[in-house]
Amino acid sequence: MPAAVRHDWTRDEVVALFALPFNDLLFRAHAVHREHHDPNAVQVSTLLSIKTGGCPEDCAYCPQAQRYDTGVQAQKLLEIDEVLHRARAAKAAGASRFCMGAAWRGPKDRDIPKVAAIVSAVKGLGLETCATLGLLGDGHAQQLKDAGLDYYNHNIDTAPEFYGEIIHTREYQDRLTTLEQVRDAGLKTCCGGIVGMGETREQRAGLLQALANLPEHPQSVPINQLVPVPGTPLANAEPLDPFEFVRAIAVARILMPRSIVRLSAGRQQMDDAVQALCFFAGAGSIFLGDKLLTTGNPDVEADHALFRRLDLHPMDVVEHAGTVHADIAEGAAAGCGQGCGCSVAA
Ligand code: SF4
Repeated sequence: MPAAVRHDWTRDEVVALFALPFNDLLFRAHAVHREHHDPNAVQVSTLLSIKTGGCPEDCAYCPQAQRYDTGVQAQKLLEIDEVLHRARAAKAAGASRFCMGAAWRGPKDRDIPKVAAIVSAVKGLGLETCATLGLLGDGHAQQLKDAGLDYYNHNIDTAPEFYGEIIHTREYQDRLTTLEQVRDAGLKTCCGGIVGMGETREQRAGLLQALANLPEHPQSVPINQLVPVPGTPLANAEPLDPFEFVRAIAVARILMPRSIVRLSAGRQQMDDAVQALCFFAGAGSIFLGDKLLTTGNPDVEADHALFRRLDLHPMDVVEHAGTVHADIAEGAAAGCGQGCGCSVAA
C-alpha cells in the first residue's frame, strides 16, 4: 500500500528518520520514491534573475542583500524581450519550467503588472512558469495566477527556532502568510529551505517537519545546500558532510511522498556520485546548468552527460487546453538559487 500522506509528523519521528543507518534510510526513501514517481525521470527547470541585487532584506546567506559587500550590482527589472530570449534558450536546452526571481522584500503594486506581462509571455512559449518575488501583498497572487503563473516559490529557509539566527528583517510567520495567499489563489507552491547554515541535525529535521506539516505539501520542495559567498555573514560556514545532505533529501522524500524534491543550490559543488545518491534518495528535479544559459554552456553539457551516465531522462511537459503540466502527478518549481523565497543564485 502506498505510504500515507501525513501532516502530523512529530519532531522525534523526523529526527529518528535522520538517525537511521544510511543504507536503511536510502532504501526506505527510494521505495517511497518508486511508489509515487518515475525514478528515472527528472524535472528540469531553469532559473533567471529578472531583477538582481539591491535587496533590503538581511538573509545571512544571500549575496543580493545590499548591506553585504559581495560585488553583486543592483539591476532593474529586465525587459520582457530579454526574458523571452533567455526563456527560449532554456527551452532549447531542455527545460520544461522557467523560474523567474526578483530580489525584492516583496513586489510593489506597480511591479505586478510588469511581472504579469513577463509571465504571460513566457507561458506563451509553452513553458511552465514559476516566480519568486518575496512577500506578496493583497491580490498579488491572484493577479499572477490570472497572468498564467503555475508556481510560486517561497521558501521557509530553515527551522522555525533557527530562523532568527539567519534573518532579522522578517518573521517566520510572514512566510507562512504569503504561502497561504499563494495556495488560496490556486497556485502551486514551491517551498523548501537551505541546509548547511550551521544548524544542528535536529534543526534540519525541524525544517523538514515544518514543510511536511504545512496544510498542503508543496508540490515542489527545493532542498538547497549553502553555497558560502564571500562578504555574507555565512561566508565561513562549516561545510556540511555530503552524506548529511543526502539524508536531508531522503527524509524530505519520505515525509512528502507526492512532492517533487529538487536538488537545488549547491548541486554544482557536489561531485557526480553524491548527485547520483541524491537521485536515488528521491530527488526528482534540478535546475539545469549553473548560470543561464546559452547554447554550449559547459554546465548544461555536464548535466546532459550526467543524465546519460545515469540513464535519467527529463520529465516531459504536455499541454492541455492551454495549460502546461509536467507528466508526473504533481510538479515542481523554482526559487532563488540559494533557496530564499525570492531571488536568484549567486
Ligand atoms: S534571499 Fe531573497 S529576500 Fe533574502 S536578501 Fe536575498 S534576495 Fe533578498
